[in-house]
Amino acid sequence: ATSSDDNDVVVIGGGPGGYVAAIKAAQLGLKTTCIEKRGTLGGTCLNVGCIPSKALLHSSHMYHEATHSFASHGVKFSSVEVDLPAMMGQKDKAVSNLTKGIEGLFKKNKVNYVKGYGKFVSPSEVSVDNVDGGNTVVKGKNIIIATGSDVKSLPGVTIDEERIVSSTGALALKEIPKRLVVIGAGYIGLEMGSVWGRLGSQVTVVEFAPDIVPTMDAEVRKQFQRALEKQKMKFMLKTKVVSVDTSGDTVKLTLEPSAGGDQTILEADVVLVSAGRVPFTAGLGLEKIGVETDKGGRILVNHKFATNVPGVYAIGDVIPGPMLAHKAEEDGVACVEFIAGKEGHVDYDMVPGVVYTHPEVAYVGKTEEQVKSLGIDYRVGKFPFMANSRAKAIDDAEGIVKILAEKETDKILGVHIMSPNAGELIHEAVLALQYGASSEDIARTCHAHPTMSEAVKEAAMATYDKPIHI
Ligand code: FAD
Repeated sequence: ATSSDDNDVVVIGGGPGGYVAAIKAAQLGLKTTCIEKRGTLGGTCLNVGCIPSKALLHSSHMYHEATHSFASHGVKFSSVEVDLPAMMGQKDKAVSNLTKGIEGLFKKNKVNYVKGYGKFVSPSEVSVDNVDGGNTVVKGKNIIIATGSDVKSLPGVTIDEERIVSSTGALALKEIPKRLVVIGAGYIGLEMGSVWGRLGSQVTVVEFAPDIVPTMDAEVRKQFQRALEKQKMKFMLKTKVVSVDTSGDTVKLTLEPSAGGDQTILEADVVLVSAGRVPFTAGLGLEKIGVETDKGGRILVNHKFATNVPGVYAIGDVIPGPMLAHKAEEDGVACVEFIAGKEGHVDYDMVPGVVYTHPEVAYVGKTEEQVKSLGIDYRVGKFPFMANSRAKAIDDAEGIVKILAEKETDKILGVHIMSPNAGELIHEAVLALQYGASSEDIARTCHAHPTMSEAVKEAAMATYDKPIHI
């Protein structure tokens, strides 16, 4: 066994939490090593999550536009077809360019990169089974666990990544399935369902709960579900998957109402299991050093991201909070700032959520249901994209901006946007919320014309006065 020099910081996991923490630590002058078992950096997000899904969402959207919208814009062609291997190739190229880019950033910032599976030997020592054989012991004064999450399995459903796939398999199907059944109506299921639906699959989403994406504002969610239904996505809510039979040519799912009742059979060519994600700490040796977790296996930390074991920290999907890449990155920066003796801060109420379908849905802060349940007096400002000139000009006007503001002070409590590019539009709202702005602050800020952002300004006007264009 070889032993590398002592580090100030050792990060286990090279995902958005871990690699960002490692780079930030090095930038703060700390001697840093990052351990990653996958062989490439970027974690779930870059390799099998955010990035490949957005690549396929864009490619499939282009095809859908070509077949559904080009003609009405006066663009005609004789035929259009999907070249799935080429589509997958463009996705793979994007992923490999980005993961290699992080290796470049490690070199630039002098982060030492060890490829292999790390396990705790003691609170300051990690034994690494190297990817290319052998073992390295990495020592550090501070160790950050950034081992992320994995797909949550369903009892009785075995993922083979061919006919019963996780999101990873759904990002690499070799053929367009005729019938795709998605189990779980969270954002991952809806995004992957959209990809294959646009390419021609009949998509049915089966969800145990009464609603899709439970973190969404109910009014926006209703409009969003309608938008997806218009795209021929079918929903079976309050429905539970009892068993999945793969013995025949097609997959047969036995379904039952969540509350119990008569069973029905649903046939599929491919089934996507997307019923959530669970923290990943297998083989890490948490028990050995006594790191505390909650019932769901999440590592418990204080506001400095410190676990109960001195010198051991945890960030990202492996701790409580929204399981999102940008949240993991914020955790990573704040955690190493604390280690470096500075202050760090992450407010989980200010973490935006985005569903990258078409239209997109993006939101930050509280939903109307949350505001009501807190007993806060509030006003609602809404503005539909049907009244937004840019959206009309490009004939892509399905959606709404909804702003919730405190009645007495006009302070913004939550912003919910459904529109093309909502994921980009949301950030003025995130900034406003972060700075404790009032709705009037947004309304009196000059917005360029013609832009979709003007709908945010008009919705802001509507909380305390009247919008101009409706
Ligand atoms: P991860 O990215 O999971 O990284 C952890 C890394 O640690 C992994 O690479 C793993 O190999 C490594 N590791 C684990 N154990 C060890 C060990 N013992 N030794 C060495 N290495 C180890 N989030 C968004 O914000 N936006 C999106 O659009 C989005 N889309 C998604 C789409 C899909 C299909 C999926 C599955 C997820 C998506 N997410 C998205 C969620 C996002 O990927 C995660 O929130 C994010 O990756 C969490 O970052 P992390 O660093 O905590 O963990």
